[in-house]
Amino acid sequence: MTVANLLDFDLDGLAAFCEQLGEKRFRATQLFRWIHQKGAADFDQMSDLAKSLRSKLQGVATIKALPVISEHVSSDGTIKWLFDVGGGNAVESVYIPEDDRATLCISSQAGCAVGCRFCSTGHQGFSRNLSTGEIIAQLWFAEHSLRQRLGRSDRIISNVVMMGMGEPLQNYSALVPALRTMLDDHGYGLSRRRVTVSTSGVVPMIERLMADCPVALAVSLHAPNDVLRDELVPLNRKYPIAELMQSCLQYLQAAPRDFITFEYCMLDGVNDTDEHARQLIDLVRGKIPCKFNLIPFNPFPESGLRRSDASRVQAFARILADAGIVTTVRKTRGDDIDAACGQLAGEVQDRTNARDRMLRQPVAVPVTVHRGPGGSGQPR
Ligand code: SAH
Ligand code: SF4
Repeated sequence: MTVANLLDFDLDGLAAFCEQLGEKRFRATQLFRWIHQKGAADFDQMSDLAKSLRSKLQGVATIKALPVISEHVSSDGTIKWLFDVGGGNAVESVYIPEDDRATLCISSQAGCAVGCRFCSTGHQGFSRNLSTGEIIAQLWFAEHSLRQRLGRSDRIISNVVMMGMGEPLQNYSALVPALRTMLDDHGYGLSRRRVTVSTSGVVPMIERLMADCPVALAVSLHAPNDVLRDELVPLNRKYPIAELMQSCLQYLQAAPRDFITFEYCMLDGVNDTDEHARQLIDLVRGKIPCKFNLIPFNPFPESGLRRSDASRVQAFARILADAGIVTTVRKTRGDDIDAACGQLAGEVQDRTNARDRMLRQPVAVPVTVHRGPGGSGQPR
């Protein structure tokens, strides 16, 4: 008999599983609370759970954490974990504490099939989808290990962003139960406004997410026209900007926030001119309620791309802001560790030097991204 990983289930899934064992739904709720609210990894810890259920669970179920390969703590409190997902693959999560919130950036896939030019995960290709259990295990571990470390019993992580490695909407069936567990009052109890799915624009899945589990939406735009976006985000050839805008507009009917966040990675001389900013204004002004988040590009050698100057980023932001579009520039955090999007690939392959690099590389957050399918410790 296969042993079920209980992290794979949202509450309905766990109730169905318990039913197969002849147990009522309230037992599933108790179990779910032990796992997600108290961080129990062992059925013996679950003191108020009927002994009969505990013994039934032994042997048929487990709570499967992800092995931690490494943890890096920045002087500003940002923490980056690298988790082993087997078969030579690893994914990362980044914890970003701020004054009024604490965000966890989570991965959804090992690698990514979209292949964006400015993203090293994209350069490395797709390895595999994470299971629901592997997605939620990142939050489960971060939340409960931090509580233990900080000696707290109240909730620590207030926000989750699906901005780590992978395209979450290309792993839809695993994503949705993970989101539901994050939102569930018996799980992590996060508000829909504080759970963000970031996508490169998988149009049909944006529409499904709206129906199945509406949460805050961030769309990685990166270009104001199809010619340029086709080149930077190859998925645009399948779902061009007009269709993407249409699905964003529709999404807002059910979204917990009344705007879409457009992420825009600032690439020197590629998408960062005044003319690009004006095209963006034409694209969205009066058409779609949105905010722009400009991300200074985090370079990696194979990209052949450069980060826009800080002054260019500011000038670009100013043009958008002057047109009435709320625009922020993603700030740099964790200067002494490397937690930056699209930058971490290959870091793990050469673990002996990881610490040296950690100490010298600048980062922007929230972010992640990691190595691809290369294999633990294997140089690509
Ligand atoms: N696949 C999803 C979510 C993961 S990427 C998506 O593309 O939205 C999260 C964010 O990091 C995206 O906005 C992505 O465009 C950005 N990003 C990827 N590589 C980057 C890099 N090298 N520098 C800066 N941002 C990067
Ligand atoms: Fe995939 Fe997002 Fe990277 Fe594009 S930016 S390759 S969609 S992870």
